Amino acid sequence: MRQVYFDNNSTTPLEPETLEGMLPFLTEQFGNPSSSHSLGAIAEQAMTRARHEVASLVGAESEQVYFCASATEAINWALRARTGVLLTSEVEHAATLEVCSDLRAGGATVVALPVDSQGQLNLDELEQYLAHDDCAVSLMWANNETGVLFPIAEIAAACKRHGAHLHVDAVQAAGKLPVAFNDLSIDSMAISSHKIFGPKGAAALIAREPAGVPPLLRGGGQERGRRAGTENVPAIVGFGVAANRARSHFTERMHTVGSLRDKLESEILQRVPGTWVNGGEGSRLANTSNIGFDAVDAEALAGMLDGQGIAVSTGSACHAKAIEPSHVIRAMTRSHTKASESLRFSLSHLNTREEVAYVVDCACSAVADLR
Ligand code: PLP
Repeated sequence: MRQVYFDNNSTTPLEPETLEGMLPFLTEQFGNPSSSHSLGAIAEQAMTRARHEVASLVGAESEQVYFCASATEAINWALRARTGVLLTSEVEHAATLEVCSDLRAGGATVVALPVDSQGQLNLDELEQYLAHDDCAVSLMWANNETGVLFPIAEIAAACKRHGAHLHVDAVQAAGKLPVAFNDLSIDSMAISSHKIFGPKGAAALIAREPAGVPPLLRGGGQERGRRAGTENVPAIVGFGVAANRARSHFTERMHTVGSLRDKLESEILQRVPGTWVNGGEGSRLANTSNIGFDAVDAEALAGMLDGQGIAVSTGSACHAKAIEPSHVIRAMTRSHTKASESLRFSLSHLNTREEVAYVVDCACSAVADLR
């Protein structure tokens, strides 16, 4: 059966060039980067290169990159040490929301700001909190379910005006938007390898100042004493290769995926009555389309498409197996029904126009059957 992968915001395939870069570190170059012999030095040099490549993708310096295993870990790392009032939003990834609920349970004040029907924050409301409290802020750059972008430059400027610490979940932004960490007043940022066609098991917390990175794991002195434990060298090397490729092919990738996404979206809207795009009116990632289908159970639609070899999703991967409809679409529409009727298509530059045509045909007939 034909396989079409339109779930790239969940994870992305490893590109052959990235695998090739990793292979020596899964085989003969197995040294521990902390060892002082030559084999160790080769691993250490490879990590140094990867650190530089990852930093370059997001406009940071190598010494601002702290490797870890997942963006979930990076977000926990950045947020667990927060004290005072923490401002976030209702549409964050579970990695942020769950840490926030732990902080709340521990007595901290956490405010989850609402979004409007287009998934946007009210920046005046954010500014009011910043003016009155000693706050830290944790917001995502691009939403994983809708692709909606928060105006991070404006948010960073507001945080700077009020002296508030800003952490940004840039997991969906890296590789899909120009990200210039050091040009903005962002204090820390999380990114993940497996969202940019790199391997799973590598991610990074990017931090402006070492003081913003409390020691997470104690032991050996890895990651400048802040995350002890022997590094996952092959995954980190792959992360570096993927970051380098994302940076050097950025323009062509975004052009390709943008035109595929636009074709998919316009054809579905045209051919299927009773459809809408969640967050379609504002700035969005070029690869993401979250489409609502009136009177259709999106879980059932995803299941029918899966039966035809098409991978799509009704929410974030962490939630995909739960029955609860997307908290993001609920926050935007204030409707449980609309959330249960919404399906996310997240494409990549590896998709083709033929795949888009196939998915549109399959979606049209599946929706008709379900209705
Ligand atoms: N933040 C966002 C916006 C995401 O989309 C994801 C993954 O879906 C994460 C955080 C968690 O990333 P990881 O899978 O590396 O833990």
